[in-house]
Amino acid sequence: MKERDGEGRFIKVSLETRFWEKVEVKNENDCWNWLGWKVRGYGRIKRNGVKELAHRISYSIHFGHIPERKCVLHTCDNPSCVNPNHLWIGTHQENMTDRGRKGRTKNGRSKEKFDLSTKRF
Ligand SMILES: [Zn+2]
Repeated sequence: MKERDGEGRFIKVSLETRFWEKVEVKNENDCWNWLGWKVRGYGRIKRNGVKELAHRISYSIHFGHIPERKCVLHTCDNPSCVNPNHLWIGTHQENMTDRGRKGRTKNGRSKEKFDLSTKRF
């Protein structure tokens, strides 16, 4: 979206402004759902024409730079949540461990579902 200043020139709307337009802000302990564009549940926003994950943008707005090769993870397991209180920095490995602990790996519950569906044939 573009806005004009008093003389009719376009003003570049900052990433932060565009970000907050798409967030359902609630109490600090609630999930703040992303209302904009999503891919596989994760909020997406463009920064300088590059697609970025909305929760990563949220993290960098609130806490600053995300270290290289680090993931921004959710404590709430809600991929569309951008509440900074629900975000933490971890490695890809920590993310996998976290998922495993919560029973969401490929060897967990989803395999059971697969077995059930194959029995019908
Ligand atoms: Zn959340």
